[in-house]
Amino acid sequence: MSCPRCRGVMIAQDLHDHHGTYLTLPGWRCLSCGEVLDATILTNRQSVKSPTSRSSSPNVCR
Ligand SMILES: [Zn+2]
Repeated sequence: MSCPRCRGVMIAQDLHDHHGTYLTLPGWRCLSCGEVLDATILTNRQSVKSPTSRSSSPNVCR
């Protein structure tokens, strides 16, 4: 896992949600710039792909 901003080392860290609940969310923190990513951010980034991907995508399993 590398930081999308500075390509630094990111460590797995549980993020605490204080918005009325005390859920613990899996996330990552950059040791270099302090960038914090959580599963929601990663999911959103992965789901929003550029429409330029074609059949040559390595993610195709079938
Ligand atoms: Zn960083």
